[in-house]
Amino acid sequence: MIFSSDPIVDAMRHDMEIEREQEKLPVCDACGQTIDDDRFWRINGETLCDDCAHDMYTIHMDDWMDEQEDEGWDCQ
Ligand SMILES: [Zn+2]
Repeated sequence: MIFSSDPIVDAMRHDMEIEREQEKLPVCDACGQTIDDDRFWRINGETLCDDCAHDMYTIHMDDWMDEQEDEGWDCQ
């Protein structure tokens, strides 16, 4: 960035540079946040931040066991 003699102009220019940077960044489809991590997820065409991807695609073993049991009951 270029410094001028006016600190306010410098600050404004700095803000604009940050805004322009953020425009290029991907946005999470689930939470709508700009992703400025060093990685993100693209699952079934959806862009997801790390947190949302973990929330949506992590299966806890207890939940999985419950699901298996429910399905088992239906089959019998
Ligand atoms: Zn998200």
